[in-house]
Amino acid sequence: MAKMFVNGQWADASSGETYEVKSPANGNVVDSVPLAGREDVDAAVKAAQAASAAWADTSPDDRAALLRKGIQAVEAQAKEIAALLTAEQGKPLFEASGELHHFLHGMEFYAGMASKIRGAQVPLPPALGKHAYGLVLKRPVGVCAGIVPWNFPLTLMGTKVGPALIAGNAIILKPAKTTPLATLKIIGLLNEAGLPPGVLQCLTGSGSVVGEHLITHPAVRRVALTGSSETGRRVMQLAGPDFKRVTLELGGSDPCIICPDADVKRAVSGVVVGRYWNAGQQCLAVKRLYVFESVYDKFVESLAEKVAGYRVGDGATKPEKPFIRMGPLHTAFQREEIEGQLADAVAKGAKILVGGKRPDDPALASGHFFEPALVADVPEDSKLATEEVFGPVLPVWKVKSLDEAIQKANNSQWGLGSSIWTQNMSWANRAVREIQAGVTWVNQIHYGYDELPFGGTKASGIGHEHGPEAVDYYLENKGAVFGGLDWE
Ligand code: NAD
Repeated sequence: MAKMFVNGQWADASSGETYEVKSPANGNVVDSVPLAGREDVDAAVKAAQAASAAWADTSPDDRAALLRKGIQAVEAQAKEIAALLTAEQGKPLFEASGELHHFLHGMEFYAGMASKIRGAQVPLPPALGKHAYGLVLKRPVGVCAGIVPWNFPLTLMGTKVGPALIAGNAIILKPAKTTPLATLKIIGLLNEAGLPPGVLQCLTGSGSVVGEHLITHPAVRRVALTGSSETGRRVMQLAGPDFKRVTLELGGSDPCIICPDADVKRAVSGVVVGRYWNAGQQCLAVKRLYVFESVYDKFVESLAEKVAGYRVGDGATKPEKPFIRMGPLHTAFQREEIEGQLADAVAKGAKILVGGKRPDDPALASGHFFEPALVADVPEDSKLATEEVFGPVLPVWKVKSLDEAIQKANNSQWGLGSSIWTQNMSWANRAVREIQAGVTWVNQIHYGYDELPFGGTKASGIGHEHGPEAVDYYLENKGAVFGGLDWE
């Protein structure tokens, strides 16, 4: 049985309770983990408080060196960790391995940032004394909580742990209930590299108990959540009364616009990865596709052919060449939600061009498999258009002009990512300026780069992860005024 990591040690829940983590591909038990309760949260927060001041006092170089040592230890066990991620999450091995490498790259980015955090020196009015000046000091916030979803458990853990630790904070992580295993393995390795007890901890359990108690605990000053917009709303309500520092990376319904001059081959590949990677369970997936009518037939035919090239199956196995593996959806609920959204669109007149059903193969009956779909003639009031579609189903619409495409792109409660495929720089510029979203990719796959800030507008959340900007959310500015310097 796996254990949680509290105060420098592997730990059981104080109640002794556990729960099983099951494979989405076949329902088999992968492992069991402790079911943490409120007392476990209290113990972890106490340890984090005790560790914070000494950790904040370490030098940035020392913090970076410890992080790098941990990164190397994780890298040395990359294969084993990727296999564990596939077993608990369902994604194919090559995607799990890609996620782990993205995590390592992000951690390395933040290790490099440790020595680059700086404040400011500000000249002040002479009335305060001839050479009076102010300082802006950057200080760690203290005890932080990071709450992570199941779709990318490792990268989304790294986007919280990396900036929190290098800025000198202690952080307590709460992975999604269904994906704690690869995370725990990594937390153990990062700690074994020499982090002081209490600086980096991990509690396994539910959002409603562990998550909510962490958020409302008075000693926790900073909360970073990646999750659905509904959860974001709840987290904001809980953290608001105590004025906690909150960032929310929430849901999305990213639009993608294909212009008449798009490089069709590249754009098709970009849309395939953008929509169907991780069985479509990505916040920043292409979830609404708008194609100019002059290229519509060519584009959609080529896209449908690619989508038909997927073979659903256990992520630990490879399909025959040249097919591409798609793993199961993560939970039974997830598959039912997608099926419901698709059925609603079809009932209102949409046409499924490819896929869109459970596989016939009886060997796959105990997993949450679903054949990836492309859907045309989708009514704009159907769930496929108005809800977040968190699975491998893509609705496509014809558009006549850039004005129409941008207007439709913006007709959404979300504003996370967006993309445009065109050679026309002024069209690309208009898309970047006018689409209401945290990011617009031009002739690129939707992807969160470690170097650039990433975060949404509207119902997609507040604040940023990735980039140097993410570190600011783990630091407080303190002002200091030095007057009286020229007194005789
Ligand atoms: P979720 O909101 O159900 O859960 C996310 C995390 O929050 C889990 O650890 C969960 O246990 C915890 N949680 C749930 N309720 C809570 C509560 N009341 N208090 C505290 N914690 C609580 O989301 P999910 O289903 O795991 O993930 C899918 C969602 O996440 C999608 O909407 C997706 O778009 C979004 N997402 C966003 C980003 C981004 O960067 N914007 C990235 C990945 C996923």
